[in-house]
Amino acid sequence: MTAKKDAGFATKAVHAGQRPDPTTGAIMTPVYLTSTYVQEGPGVHKGFDYARTVHPTRLALEANIAALEGGAHGLCFASGMAATSTVIEMLDAGDHVVSCNDLYGGTYRVFTKVFARHGMSFSFVDATDMKAIEKAMTSKTKILWIETPSNPMLRITDIKKASALAHKKKVKVVVDNTFASPALQQPLALGADIVVHSTTKYLGGHSDVVGGAVVTNDREIFDKLKFLQNAVGAVPGPLDCFLVLRGTKTLPLRLVKHCENAMAVARHLSKHKEIARVHYPGLADHPGHAIAKAQMCGFGGMISFELKGDLERAKRMIAMTRVFSLAESLGGVESLIGHPPTMTHGSIPRQERLKSGLVDGLIRLSVGIEDAQDLIDDLDQAIARSAV
Ligand SMILES: *Cc1c(COP(=O)(O)O)cnc(C)c1O
Repeated sequence: MTAKKDAGFATKAVHAGQRPDPTTGAIMTPVYLTSTYVQEGPGVHKGFDYARTVHPTRLALEANIAALEGGAHGLCFASGMAATSTVIEMLDAGDHVVSCNDLYGGTYRVFTKVFARHGMSFSFVDATDMKAIEKAMTSKTKILWIETPSNPMLRITDIKKASALAHKKKVKVVVDNTFASPALQQPLALGADIVVHSTTKYLGGHSDVVGGAVVTNDREIFDKLKFLQNAVGAVPGPLDCFLVLRGTKTLPLRLVKHCENAMAVARHLSKHKEIARVHYPGLADHPGHAIAKAQMCGFGGMISFELKGDLERAKRMIAMTRVFSLAESLGGVESLIGHPPTMTHGSIPRQERLKSGLVDGLIRLSVGIEDAQDLIDDLDQAIARSAV
């Protein structure tokens, strides 16, 4: 029925936040298509007054994702960017944020093009380097914003160390856990104050919905975010909540296969003579391998690699795959391929890109749950045909 607090992860994934519908016994959480709720008298109701403020399908999802992250409080949003923006809405003009320099493009954009206009400031550093994080902090710093593994370089930040460092300076730590998902990494247990998700990716898992979530154990932060969720209003619709709730049920199962396949593909690519470098935290020579091994229980489904040759060859190669689809996004059951320098990270000037390791031949894979051999064969044929 519903999951106990000490239930295992897979049990929580299936049951947390959900109970059979009290009126019919329907086993699945209904998609409550309603904007308001009838009151017995003014202000006398069942805890539900208006659907932006509180919604039963959303509540079930919020409790489910909170349980998966080992957090006391969850809040869901219309997109990952809505979740991110609502977290930053907690800040005031003059406040400062330290973040990693290979941040998700949309997060970089909202920080520098939207919130910077409102008087907040942002520094971007190599967040694998604790000294660089410390150096960037000022008396105005309120948040350390981390993505690990990062996008698209798959760099690993030590969440425990970074949190200890930030907390000494009374700075709150936010981890965007989209790339790992709670099946592989639970940042709150490692010291983070807030976890942010794009549920569009692994939590939804089927590339059929856009959504976001925030989880925290800190009651004060939750109260602020709950207020902002209602005040700003970037809430998800009931059907979207249902779709993510359906996705989280199979999250642990899917992630096992994503990890297995990604490891097989990464190993294969690392021996390929047309490939200069493979970035995958599961490979023993990855600079963050030891930290990833300690703070994650799997290395994830994301890989990036450097194809030998120029930009044009990389663009040819990604258009020649037959199982991998050329598309933005990640975390769905199907494998996707993309070229960060011209797609997700195209808005960053080339010189800036090169500084953070985003070379012209960099290709990113979201490895799905198909048969590993089919994925390997597909990449091999595209690599071979892209050479002229
Ligand atoms: C996709 C993504 C986001 C943004 O989420 P949307 O649901 O697209 O708004 C934020 N962070 C990471 C790491 C992502 O991959």
